[in-house]
Amino acid sequence: MSRILHRSLHQTPPMAVGGQGICLRDSQGKTYIDASGGAAVSSLGHGHPDVIAAMHAQIDRCAYAHTAFFTTEVAEQLADRLVARAPAGIGAVYLVSGGSEAMETALKLARQYFVEGGEDQRSLFIARRQSYHGNTLGALAVGGNEWRRKPFAPLLMDVPRVAPCYEYRDRLEGQTTAQYTAMLLDELEATILLAGPERVIGFCAEPVVGATGGAIPPTPDYFRGVRALCDKYGILFIADEVMCGMGRTGTMFAIEQDGVAPDLIAVAKGLGAGYAPIGAVLANGAIIERLRSGSGTFLHGHTYIGHPVAAAAALAVQDVIERDDLLVQVQKRGATLRRMLGDVFASHPHVGDIRGRGLFLALELVRDRATREPFAPELKLHAAIKAKAMECGLMVYPMGGTIDGRRGDHVLLAPPFIVSAAQLSEIVTRLDDALKAALRQVS
Ligand code: PMP
Repeated sequence: MSRILHRSLHQTPPMAVGGQGICLRDSQGKTYIDASGGAAVSSLGHGHPDVIAAMHAQIDRCAYAHTAFFTTEVAEQLADRLVARAPAGIGAVYLVSGGSEAMETALKLARQYFVEGGEDQRSLFIARRQSYHGNTLGALAVGGNEWRRKPFAPLLMDVPRVAPCYEYRDRLEGQTTAQYTAMLLDELEATILLAGPERVIGFCAEPVVGATGGAIPPTPDYFRGVRALCDKYGILFIADEVMCGMGRTGTMFAIEQDGVAPDLIAVAKGLGAGYAPIGAVLANGAIIERLRSGSGTFLHGHTYIGHPVAAAAALAVQDVIERDDLLVQVQKRGATLRRMLGDVFASHPHVGDIRGRGLFLALELVRDRATREPFAPELKLHAAIKAKAMECGLMVYPMGGTIDGRRGDHVLLAPPFIVSAAQLSEIVTRLDDALKAALRQVS
């Protein structure tokens, strides 16, 4: 038995021994197409020579320098690059080691911003019911994934919650998309007012929902409305782009497509593309200026912030995305994958919705297409799909039943940006096989 606490304490997963392009290989010699980039991480695939070379070069130069003593050229370059590509107003970057740390950092930066402005009474974050923001206690508290939160609930701060923007499930009969959006924004405003706007720090949301829903995009004006409400009440908009950011949706930041700029943006996963554990918080310049002219320090820090080898990996990933014009590639391949999914699944009796942006796409599975009734959570259809897909040599990222039992199962696809059209076709074929096998197993 393995000494590692794996996800299942009963089972040791296959051992990955090699990775090249869009495939991983296990110790038995079996190869798997990585159609989910792990969990939307491996945006350049595996074994990318340019990223590996950049990391080697940085290890040779300087593997580690603690940020209490030094900065490094590569971390500075990465920060400059991220700010240059970021939405309007972003002026500074805090480099961390992953997504949960990025969200923790964003929450603390937001709180300190108000404390430095003499508004100590602001202590609340508002978040959405269908959300995942990480597994550390602060990030877990703002996330709305009840299944993950439940055992730890007494340790978590109180977070007022609003409905997610989930048109497929929640738009009411006879309601237009605009009316549905207005209803959500009314609820957010009422929640801010009920909490007392002067007590609220910020509103947290994933621009395109990842793990808890499967690539759920917002309605067209939703985030414009969110931004307007945040401005009206002087609260910060914190965008969690840990999963949907860094090019995954076809723009560097998913929120660019909604035409608004958040005050804080958390990124990770695709930032290091799996070559190094790295995340970042991008902050509006005004937040940093207040801290600079106030206490002069952000009361936070971890041993591995700004790790030079991780920064070198992330900078190389950025270089490759720019050099190879991969954002355009994501848009094109995303459209191709969507069309292929439509060809195979659009009239499938158990596929209720095909959605997403760029190469961040998902299928939502339903027992009944007409009523949108999900499969019973006890059937664990998502787990059966994952297992069958692995048998077919395919990695996909299914989830299910984690919100309120009503939301059902979905399969998330997030292949590397370098995926070819032929490989996409193979992914869809294997997914179809895995889905058939899984449905046979649960019915
Ligand atoms: N936020 C979002 C939107 C995520 O999808 C995740 C990871 N699935 C996290 C935060 C946490 O990131 P990490 O697992 O790197 O801590």
